[in-house]
This record gives sequence, C-alpha cells and structure tokens, in this order.
Amino acid sequence: LVSLMASASTLWHVEGGNYLVPKKILEHLLKQSDVQFVKGHVKSVTEVHRIDIDDQGGNVRLSYQPTNSQLVHAVDYDNVIIAFPLHRDNINDFVLQATDHFNQHDYRMQSTHANFLHGKLNCQQYNLTKSECERLKAIFYTNPSLPYRCVAQQQTVNENEKQYKKTDKSVYKIFSPDKLSLSDYKQIFDNDNFQLIQDIPWLAYPKYEYPQKMPPIQINKNIFYLNAMEWSSSCMEIEVISARNIAMLLTKKIGVDLKRSDKHVEF
Ligand SMILES: Cc1cc2nc3c(=O)[nH]c(=O)nc-3n(C[C@H](O)[C@H](O)[C@H](O)COP(=O)(O)OP(=O)(O)OC[C@H]3O[C@@H](n4cnc5c(N)ncnc54)[C@H](O)[C@@H]3O)c2cc1C
Repeated sequence: LVSLMASASTLWHVEGGNYLVPKKILEHLLKQSDVQFVKGHVKSVTEVHRIDIDDQGGNVRLSYQPTNSQLVHAVDYDNVIIAFPLHRDNINDFVLQATDHFNQHDYRMQSTHANFLHGKLNCQQYNLTKSECERLKAIFYTNPSLPYRCVAQQQTVNENEKQYKKTDKSVYKIFSPDKLSLSDYKQIFDNDNFQLIQDIPWLAYPKYEYPQKMPPIQINKNIFYLNAMEWSSSCMEIEVISARNIAMLLTKKIGVDLKRSDKHVEF
C-alpha cells in the first residue's frame, strides 16, 4: 500500500511547480522577520561540551558548505532543528554527533523509481470498451511479483475536462521498486506507441518494519529532529505538525510567548 503513495492523477499541484510553495513561504518569512537564510549543504551537527560554565557560546556546532563555495563554515548555535530524514543511506553525507540513543544506521528508506512516459494505455488486455478505456485514469497492481506497482495519468495544472478528452496520448507516471525495462513498459502501453520522458530513482519514504522503532523528535536538549515523525507516517501534513510542535517546544524552552494567529496568507 505504501508504494501507491502519490500515484493518483489528481494530486495537488501549483502552476510553475510545487517547489514554489516553500520558496514563497521563505520569501514571506524573510520579509516578516530578521532571520538569515544561507543556502548550502550541512555536513555535520555536533554537540558542544563547554567546560567553562561562563562560556556563553552555543551548544550545537553546525558545519556547512555554502552553495558555490568550497569552504566549510562552522557556527555554534543554541538550538538546531534537523529537517531532513536521517537514515543509513545518507550516513556518509551528513554526520550527527550527539547521543548514543539514536543510531542513524537503524533506519532505512525505500527506493522507488518514478517513470514518466508519454503514450496510450493498452486497455485491450483488460477487455475494456472504448468509452471505459477513455475513463481509465489509473491502474493499481495487486500482484507483488509484477515489477511495477501502479500507473496513473498526470494532469496539467490548468487542464479542463474538454481538452483532456480530446487528447489521444497522455503523460503517465509509473512507480516501480527497481528500474523498468522496455519489455515492462510494453506490457502497460499500447504497442510501441509510447516514449520514456524521465526515470527518477528516489529514496522515497521510510522502509517500515513491524514493530516500528520511532526515532526521537528531541535528539538531545538542544537538537531537534523534525522528520522523526516520518517513521510514523510519511506525509507533508505530519511534517507540518511536527514543525509546529518543535516550534512550541522551543518557545517554551527559551521562554518566548508564541503568537497565535489564524491569518491565511495568499501568494
Ligand atoms: C515518491 C514519494 C511519494 C510521496 N507521496 C506523498 C503523498 O502522496 N502525500 C504526502 O503528503 N506526502 C507524500 N510523500 C512524502 C512527502 O514528500 C514528505 O513527507 C515531505 O516532503 C517531507 O517534507 P520535509 O520538508 O520535512 O522534507 P523533504 O521534502 O525531504 O525536504 C528535505 C530538504 O532537505 C534538504 N537536505 C537534505 N540533506 C541536506 C543537508 N545535508 N544539508 C542541507 N539540506 C539538506 C533536501 O535537499 C530537501 O530539500 C511522498 C514522498 C515521495 C518521495
């Protein structure tokens, strides 16, 4: 079931690309406050043990390489929030030195290929009529021995129903655990009437186990881990709740009143 995530045709999408959402939120945040934004790759987060109690330096050292720079910078902060998943596959990319209670090696991500193709589905193999075939937007495969999990038509942001019916071929997205071959595509699409646009391998979502161990949301006194919640359920809403909870924990910790507002911002 997890492998069907984000397969449907009508997922939310914004004109110009979904990446515009965090971009606009950041622009809004920069206007509203005096936060400093630095674009770069975080190399490590390390707990700092201060021997001198009068030492006012930060408790967490963050090392990062700004984009377009070869130099690695190290800055000490009072608190750090890690907002990307920590797992076995990015252990060489990012070092966390903080506690023995959390072992990054214990957590894994599921790899998924998102294959984008332009073509027409082979409906004949399901004995569908022409009109049924026209209405077929997605197929979810329940046989785990097949190399693919689902195929779904992708709609453009402004596509209206009339235009949509006219087109003979569409763009489809197939999710598969491994790279697909030409013969796999031929099982799904009409004859040789299709074209591969892109195949993107992702470390998609956590590899869930039973019973599932949850990573800590607060790694130590000063380091918070927002994506820990993805190991309960990997979705944007959960991450937003986790971010809000961490903001509340932090404001409580540093004794700042949280401004509550229901104000909606339109971009
Ligand atoms: C194939 C797929 C399907 C999904 N389907 C759905 C769905 O249908 N519905 C849904 O709600 N959710 C879905 N999700 C999950 C959803 O995308 C995630 O829960 C969500 O993106 C998490 O948001 P985030 O900002 O916490 O982390 P991310 O979106 O993972 O963002 C983390 C950011 O940190 C950056 N980063 C990583 N390492 C470093 C570093 N060392 N230094 C600096 N930056 C770094 C990354 O480049 C990235 O920009 C899906 C995910 C995938 C991959």
